Amino acid sequence: MLPTHALGGMALALPLVVVAPEFAPLALGAGLVGGIVPDLDMYAGHRKTLHFPVYYSVLAVLVTSVAVLVPTGATVAVAVFLLAAALHCVTDVLGSGLELRPWEGTSDRAVYDHYRRTWIPPRRLVRYDGSPADLGLSVTLALPLLYTLEGVFQWLVLGTVAVAAVYTALRRRLAALATVVARRVPTAIRPYVPKRYLEDLDSETSTTGS
Ligand SMILES: [Zn+2]
Repeated sequence: MLPTHALGGMALALPLVVVAPEFAPLALGAGLVGGIVPDLDMYAGHRKTLHFPVYYSVLAVLVTSVAVLVPTGATVAVAVFLLAAALHCVTDVLGSGLELRPWEGTSDRAVYDHYRRTWIPPRRLVRYDGSPADLGLSVTLALPLLYTLEGVFQWLVLGTVAVAAVYTALRRRLAALATVVARRVPTAIRPYVPKRYLEDLDSETSTTGS
């Protein structure tokens, strides 16, 4: 889920707190943003439009090499941003597929690979986003961050864990709510609604034959 990705991105910046503390705040911010940005495609080609598992990874390796050789605010920030975005896209593969109720495990699409022009199937090591295991992952990532950071960043981590806990508690109810909302969407707007929210309507239409 998004909070886990956000915390993962920030965790990538943690070594800088020790190695190059002058870059740490910038890197933590870049890691947070990089962990979030791919999911800005949530309602427009989710896990495809802004998810680039191969390209983010290749760029991350290149820019990180540059940042190590020429450490400036800009190189470090871009490197951590790309590393966080790459980590986000690669770890999405370890979760569930792109479907309204991912705990049912019916989708074979985890993340789109633009390089091979194909969908990568989900590995389901974490059964679905917002599962108890996912929350456990969020908390595990938050612990070293809370221990190391202070001030604004510490509050940011606590806030993110709180969002993760609420999302996990409501995850299944949110899927039911999405179906109810999708039913009320006017037909003219329906083409703009992501397909996964219309799964129930589609199956009802096909069973009733209307
Ligand atoms: Zn994602």
